[in-house]
Amino acid sequence: MNVLLSAGPTLEPIDAVRFISNRSSGKMGVALSEASVAAGHDTVLVHGPLQVALPKGSRNFAVETASEMKAGLAQHMNWADVLIMSAAVCDMRPAQRDDHKVGKGELEQLSLVPNPDIVGSLAQDFPGVHIVSFSLENDFDPQRPLKKMRAKKSHWVVYNQLRSMGADASRFGVIDREGSPVLESQELDKKQFAQQLIAALGSLA
Ligand code: C5P
Repeated sequence: MNVLLSAGPTLEPIDAVRFISNRSSGKMGVALSEASVAAGHDTVLVHGPLQVALPKGSRNFAVETASEMKAGLAQHMNWADVLIMSAAVCDMRPAQRDDHKVGKGELEQLSLVPNPDIVGSLAQDFPGVHIVSFSLENDFDPQRPLKKMRAKKSHWVVYNQLRSMGADASRFGVIDREGSPVLESQELDKKQFAQQLIAALGSLA
């Protein structure tokens, strides 16, 4: 199976030194990449700035912005059987990017514009790829993830709790588009969950 993954945050520049980003560490995507390689799958990882070491055995491509991530993933979609979208893509980016360092006064008001919805657009352009999206929730209720998955047209959604961000473990649920459970875990190490998700995807082939 050819497995395409995204990991980590995106980083959206304001000027030459400042940026908008989020607290994603990349641990989940790196664990998934390692589990995919260990299961014998050909694996490509497109990742934002990571707080953990790069995985071995996968082909890794570093990007910064959501637009770069979308382009990096799109290049591999004809090759991929599965896309696992664990990156924490910034919803918004600065409307303008200055190549110099702007003065403090110019930062008082920052105009933001929405980033492209990567999952939504790749699901539309490459309907043959089985897409797994992620949904970070304040609680452990599958209703909001289910709605988002249907809007984005991914095939499965992994939902987990906010405290998962940066942590080594979390409680995970995976449902399909009909809302049926694919996997449900109690508190689990991200590495163990990664193995379970890759095994569940492997059984589709
Ligand atoms: O709607 P929400 O941001 O919670 O959806 C999260 C899922 O959508 C994740 O899989 C994330 O990688 C993906 N995403 C995306 N493009 C965006 C924002 C999020 O593909 N602009």
